[in-house]
Amino acid sequence: MHPGIIVLWHESSGPTFWPMNKTVLITGCSTGFGLASAKHFAARGWNVIATMRTPSPIPELAALPGVLVTRLDVQDRASIDSALRAGVERFGGLDVVVNNAGFGLHGLFETTPREKILEQFEVNVFGVMDVIRAALPCFVQRGGGTIVNVSSGAGVFTLPMISLYCASKFALEGFSEALSYELTSQNVRVKLVEPGGVVDTRFVARSAEESSQSAVPPRYEAFVRATNEVFARMREDRSGATSEGVAEVIYEAATDPSDRLRYVATDGIKPLVKMRRETSEEAYLAFMRERFLVKPPPVR
Ligand code: NAP
Repeated sequence: MHPGIIVLWHESSGPTFWPMNKTVLITGCSTGFGLASAKHFAARGWNVIATMRTPSPIPELAALPGVLVTRLDVQDRASIDSALRAGVERFGGLDVVVNNAGFGLHGLFETTPREKILEQFEVNVFGVMDVIRAALPCFVQRGGGTIVNVSSGAGVFTLPMISLYCASKFALEGFSEALSYELTSQNVRVKLVEPGGVVDTRFVARSAEESSQSAVPPRYEAFVRATNEVFARMREDRSGATSEGVAEVIYEAATDPSDRLRYVATDGIKPLVKMRRETSEEAYLAFMRERFLVKPPPVR
């Protein structure tokens, strides 16, 4: 029997052969990578549990067969359980979870309120853990599964003004790598997808909304101005990365049977990722300090 076929037996008509599609649950499908991924998986015949914090009718998704749009706020554990229940009831099981929902706090650490830091970690780290914890019994039932965690270039290298976002994605990277050792024993693969600098999403707009809420103290003004100029130059270097391109890499990671853990998803960040991973700590930090005009503090 073909592994992608199930047999339904009816007393009157005998066997009926049905294609058995795989099922993926994706968080944060209202926009950006989540929406692009939902469309990408559905176009390849997958059942998609397309989850959103606030479900709204999205015609592009409504038109696709095998897509269940349902509410899941990663900060609300009851909504995680009910989205999984609804998806499994509809499609019969779960094969892949894509933890995509996330946002990036932008601003100086010193002026970022503690509640905002907690929210950053609740969405980007603890929310991912809660989704995984809730999904694992479904994988056990299936005899295995795959978890794709959407990280970031900011989970590999750091930049000023996004220290809390970097902290959350570094935490996600460390958690995912350690978890991959544990879950291999359970036939569950863990994957990290690392994009950077994609502008056809709401990511930059949400970061801007967050940063507009805290003022820059005058003593930081020169630093922030210089840093913004570096960011503007970095944006010019962008190589036309798109949500659809990132969705392709998410799909590649989800369907890759190998034990590869990390997938850099956009070309623009590859040089910096390579530098961070392959250069000495000393040379890498000297490069970054020069770029961000940071002089070491005078010896006291
Ligand atoms: P986006 O367009 O802003 O999408 C983010 C998604 O996450 C939205 O659907 C948003 O829902 C959802 N979300 C936020 N908080 C949530 C919560 N509490 N519960 C459930 N969903 C929630 O941004 P994107 O660029 O596609 O980002 C997707 C992922 O890629 C994020 O993890 C981000 O850190 C990562 N990433 C993006 C870039 C980039 O260049 N764009 C680079 C590196 C990494 P609402 O619509 O309700 O807010």
